[in-house]
Amino acid sequence: MPQEFSDRLKALPPYLFKELDRVRDEVRARGVDVIDLGVGDPDRPTPGHIVEALKRAAEDPKNHQYPVYSGMNAFRDVVAAWYKRRHGVELDGATEVCSLIGSKEGLAQFPLAFLNPGDVSLVPEPSYPVYRSGTLFAGGVSHYMPLLAKNNYLPDLDAVGEDVLKKAKIIYVNYPNNPTGASAPEEFYVRLVAFAKKWGLIVVSDAAYSEVTWLPGPHKSILEIPGAGDVAVEFHSLSKTYNMTGWRVGWAAGNATLIKGLGLVKSNVDSGVFQAVQLAGMAAIEGPQDCVAAMGRLYEERRLVLVEGLARAGIEVLKTDHTFYVWATVPRGLKSAEFSSLLLEKAGVVATPGNGFGPSGEGYARFALVQEVPRLQEAAGRLAKLKF
Ligand SMILES: *Cc1c(COP(=O)(O)O)cnc(C)c1O
Repeated sequence: MPQEFSDRLKALPPYLFKELDRVRDEVRARGVDVIDLGVGDPDRPTPGHIVEALKRAAEDPKNHQYPVYSGMNAFRDVVAAWYKRRHGVELDGATEVCSLIGSKEGLAQFPLAFLNPGDVSLVPEPSYPVYRSGTLFAGGVSHYMPLLAKNNYLPDLDAVGEDVLKKAKIIYVNYPNNPTGASAPEEFYVRLVAFAKKWGLIVVSDAAYSEVTWLPGPHKSILEIPGAGDVAVEFHSLSKTYNMTGWRVGWAAGNATLIKGLGLVKSNVDSGVFQAVQLAGMAAIEGPQDCVAAMGRLYEERRLVLVEGLARAGIEVLKTDHTFYVWATVPRGLKSAEFSSLLLEKAGVVATPGNGFGPSGEGYARFALVQEVPRLQEAAGRLAKLKF
């Protein structure tokens, strides 16, 4: 049959949230006021000065034609200046930065540039699913590295067998972490860079949440680590920092050969980011940053509200100063999926079952703090009535 899906599509893991989506729609149809803390998509609008920059740029016919594939020089220079300012890292915008149609796009295409069929990617789990699917689409094989509470949600590098390491090409890390909210200490990055050099690995560091924090500074960038420039590429996004998930703009930065490979794939697949969006992205990066700090404080406040309700219900969470996620331990005797269904049925609250991000997420649930404080107070009140 010609309409049959390719083997690679058939090899994708099943969509684990289907049953939860069904129950949510059913509960809603019953007239329940459902509070959705499922999807990691900021609820607040993009700050006004960024929207204004887009409007101005959209009116300029120069921006109506094909963009430069790897990004406007000005955009890449602005990103390089940002690394200098935020992380003390010197980058050459022309060769060490590439703009992306959102970091998901870059993460998904990167393996096409560096994996041959059968090559292995070391993929943390639970995690953002794109590391796995990007590897799969490139003909690679994912080897999972469980992120466990007892290891502070860092992968145990020593647990990866030599046979696997000999075939491995890429190692993915993501801190601050989705779904757990965990962060990585500097020592971990130092060890990771040494490990990558020893085994000839490319480090792909997904830093989408580095600015989503209520601490005074950003999470460390792996590019700050001496020697990281030889082995690492960092994927970054404006989506979470500036509430710009719909705009589709991000970047990759780091080792020039890694950036070049990604750029070669991209020039064959897409034609870059709408220049007006790049100009608006530059306005975001170079403009006032008080909006970012304010979002951080807001997430902290929201977190306190929800965590207090969860505590009253007898549910423990992972402490963190980063991301807008709350990683909760499912009460003993329940599976993640059962717990999520129960919250929905009994409290009208949507939380994502942890096993949807990988097998080690079983026993956990993720709440995204993407509703205003009064809604979270309502959710907390309903949750507090459930006694586990
Ligand atoms: C949201 C997210 C991204 C992707 O964001 P884009 O909108 O594609 O830039 C990447 N990694 C993680 C872990 C995310 O949660």
